[in-house]
Amino acid sequence: MPKPKRVGIYVRISRDRKGQELGIQRQEKACRELCERRGWTVVKVYPENDVSASITSKKRRPQYAEMMRDVREGTIDGIVVYSIDRLTRRIAELTNFLEAQKEHSFEFATTEGEDTSSASGRMILTIKGAVAQQETERMSERVNASLLQRREKGQPHAGGPRVFGFEPGSAFQRLVPEEVEWIQQGYRLLLNGKTPGDVARLWNAAGARTTGTGTEWTIQKVKRVYRSERVGGIVTYKGSDIGDSEHPHPLTREQWENVQSVLDARMTPVAQGSGKRTHVYTGFLHCGYCKSVMRVQWTTVESRTFRRVFCHSGAISNSAGKLGCGKINRQYGWVSDRLDEVVEAALLKRRPKHVQAAKTEDLSGEIAIMEQRIRALRQRWKDDGMEDEDYFDALGHLRAELQTFRQREATSVVAKSRNIVDALTVWRDESPDNIERRRAIVATVIEKVELYSVGRGRRKPPDIDSIKITPVGDKKASG
Ligand SMILES: [Zn+2]
Repeated sequence: MPKPKRVGIYVRISRDRKGQELGIQRQEKACRELCERRGWTVVKVYPENDVSASITSKKRRPQYAEMMRDVREGTIDGIVVYSIDRLTRRIAELTNFLEAQKEHSFEFATTEGEDTSSASGRMILTIKGAVAQQETERMSERVNASLLQRREKGQPHAGGPRVFGFEPGSAFQRLVPEEVEWIQQGYRLLLNGKTPGDVARLWNAAGARTTGTGTEWTIQKVKRVYRSERVGGIVTYKGSDIGDSEHPHPLTREQWENVQSVLDARMTPVAQGSGKRTHVYTGFLHCGYCKSVMRVQWTTVESRTFRRVFCHSGAISNSAGKLGCGKINRQYGWVSDRLDEVVEAALLKRRPKHVQAAKTEDLSGEIAIMEQRIRALRQRWKDDGMEDEDYFDALGHLRAELQTFRQREATSVVAKSRNIVDALTVWRDESPDNIERRRAIVATVIEKVELYSVGRGRRKPPDIDSIKITPVGDKKASG
């Protein structure tokens, strides 16, 4: 091949790391040195500045287009680039380039040693192009991964508007102590049955002003503060909860979740469901005595943090418009374990052949008998006619049997679903942002749950009678 006289140098800087390390001047210098060694004359430099040639980029490259036109028109008869990934990261584009090169037989070389003077050289270029494309794909994955990592560490990607409680411009890393105190005071009010309006009045009286317009607090603006995940130190990415901030925040995650429960409970029925529920079974749990909707809340006792479910005597949460009776205060974990079993079993049994078999199954008789046997057993034990060990042993068996019946019954009322696997997969994803979907699944299995208090003094597990689960479609039990 005759040595080309007129060569174009294509240099490109991109936003990726390699591009930043490799300035346009350095690329051009290396290309000019190559041309000098080969005795080629540089007639034109095509500097593509700050434009990505990656496959994820949709931007046009005017300099590249101009160079290809020049090569077709014969203005230049050779192209030199620093490396193949400076030319392109798209394998399709490289293929087009190599075809044009073959057609117009211009010279092509990189400072890293590739050229098109031989078949093997062309093959190597093609392979390198493919690798470059793959690298780009991996790179964009890495960029997302590192963003996520940064966010998980509580390092925000961007500033965003200031949130009450955080120092302006501190990117959620520093607090305003006075505002944190107001948020905490408001938190205590809300948990004691006061309204967001009360909090607004408190803050306004204390001289607090809003972050945006510096005006007085309104109910909506107060709610917005407590609805902000940032206030609870919760870091989100594309709307999903991805972890806790490393930096201080006005409320703990548990406190923030408590406020969500309170605000959700205050919503009108129409708006219910649009809140930020944080517990799967909130709304399903009713007080067995006064029928109030029970509240789930984080609590700390002797430095142990756990969730409890209780009938709130300071809030109106039943259809009768009366205050809760306050008789029940139980561990949420025990309750949710029981309900998880029921939901899981129902989903597992949604296989078509089982649905067919379960459809006609009426187990209310069996369940009634089991419940009666359990009550009789407990009576004997209470009357001191039984050793504790024997009682709990027998009770365990009866409960297991009862549970089986209840699960079968729940299954029998569950509608056929073609998305058995999907539902189970969704159900088992316990990530915080999956709660609404899990709740929707619960609603297909469980109509409502009534809780009763566990007697005093007994250290053993709560009695199975202290929870009454009404499966969906069970008319008898929902009276
Ligand atoms: Zn009650």
